[in-house]
Amino acid sequence: MMTIADSIQNAEKPASNGGFESSVYGPVHSWRLGWSLGIDLLLNTSTCSFNCVYCQLGDIQLKTATRAIYVSTDKLERDLRLSDWEKADIITLSGNGEPTLALNLGEVIRFIKDYTGKPVMVLTNATLLNDPAVQQDLRLADQVACKLDAATDSVLQRMNRPVEGISLEGIISGIEAFRQVYKGKLSLQCMFMPTNTEDVDALTSLIARIAPDEVQLNTPKRPYPMEWVVDSRGNHSEPLVKSQQLRTISETEADHIEQLIKEKAPSLPLISIYRK
Ligand code: SF4
Repeated sequence: MMTIADSIQNAEKPASNGGFESSVYGPVHSWRLGWSLGIDLLLNTSTCSFNCVYCQLGDIQLKTATRAIYVSTDKLERDLRLSDWEKADIITLSGNGEPTLALNLGEVIRFIKDYTGKPVMVLTNATLLNDPAVQQDLRLADQVACKLDAATDSVLQRMNRPVEGISLEGIISGIEAFRQVYKGKLSLQCMFMPTNTEDVDALTSLIARIAPDEVQLNTPKRPYPMEWVVDSRGNHSEPLVKSQQLRTISETEADHIEQLIKEKAPSLPLISIYRK
């Protein structure tokens, strides 16, 4: 298994295709964001504190909750200058894993905003939100979207499969603490599969309690890849490698979830993959 030290050492080595991979990709079109330029601060291997059963990166290779520098800020700056950033509506930190694991996250957000003047969004699984340094970094972003798929530890374990030491209580208290200090737009992104539909009532109550600025309902439309390739981070209509179709929820089930949220939080803006 690759260690953090190996990963950091590999940060600027040529990728398996023989070329130096860029830490900037796209812009790619997203149903939620329009044209989004992707920033990948993990890059050389999939790296995350979760290993979600539906992850578009497949089985996460480096499972860790430890922050480190995986891609140097110098490299990111070079890659951004060479990219098509002018065409993007928004610049999104997501890529090959969990962006808050990057220790240079704040420095990178500052550079992107100064250089491009474009809005910056971070997609996070919220596992590190209790860390004041992570909160500080994320406060620089215009939008933060937090993943929330589970309302019980048992669903968290089955669906998100976190590294040891991460609990649902810690995730929720982190999101609530961040909500108190964050001035930008806070969204919750909720993935629904047959695995967590049993949790729907508790999860919708939790969403209403957190009262984000927006909630996004999703179900895995992309198949689960059987191996990792760096380009898995993008938005592809066709699978890049051998993949496995995942079980999704039906439109009727999505309607039911929407109804529950509307009953509990009538004024909460809601986006559903079925209404895109
Ligand atoms: S949090 Fe995101 S990157 Fe991490 S395993 Fe889940 S879907 Fe993949």
